[in-house]
Amino acid sequence: MASLKDQLGGLVYSTEKGDTCPACRRPLAECECNEQAEQARLAELDGIVRIRRETSGRKGKGVTTLEGIPLPAAELKTLAKELKKRCGTGGAIKEGVVEIQGDHRELLKGELEKRGYRVKLAGG
Ligand SMILES: [Zn+2]
Repeated sequence: MASLKDQLGGLVYSTEKGDTCPACRRPLAECECNEQAEQARLAELDGIVRIRRETSGRKGKGVTTLEGIPLPAAELKTLAKELKKRCGTGGAIKEGVVEIQGDHRELLKGELEKRGYRVKLAGG
């Protein structure tokens, strides 16, 4: 996958003055902090997507959570959007975990398997 920096290559020059990243103090155009955090998160995954239903502290049917999808944030967002549409419901992404409102475990398992993911129904 081309990094954002590569995608912007040719458009952004080091002479350009802009904000600097508070973590690495490099110009934001050259900062790779988000990318590195993202890679660290992905490196910890075992390639298995775990589907859970969580009801505690939630109204109605709770949410179905998809944990461990091995995708970078932008692609995860696209996938979550497709899955929400497929389930006809809303949802969110929290720290790499996709939350889909309602109980859609079987449907989501099928959708992810169709896309080539290894899926486990966990808990609940
Ligand atoms: Zn940085």
